[in-house]
Amino acid sequence: MKKDKEEKIACHVCQKMIPKAAALHAEGQEYVLHFCNLECLDYWKNQHNKEKT
Ligand SMILES: [Zn+2]
Repeated sequence: MKKDKEEKIACHVCQKMIPKAAALHAEGQEYVLHFCNLECLDYWKNQHNKEKT
């Protein structure tokens, strides 16, 4: 049985499975999103900003 620290989550942008401990985070008011790298984080930020305008 693996411990929780081995848990993997899917990148919010590309859906790639990554270790939760290695993921980047973007926190909103009611959510936390996970990203595999800065490229995906920036991609989401761009999409997110567009939705507001
Ligand atoms: Zn990704």
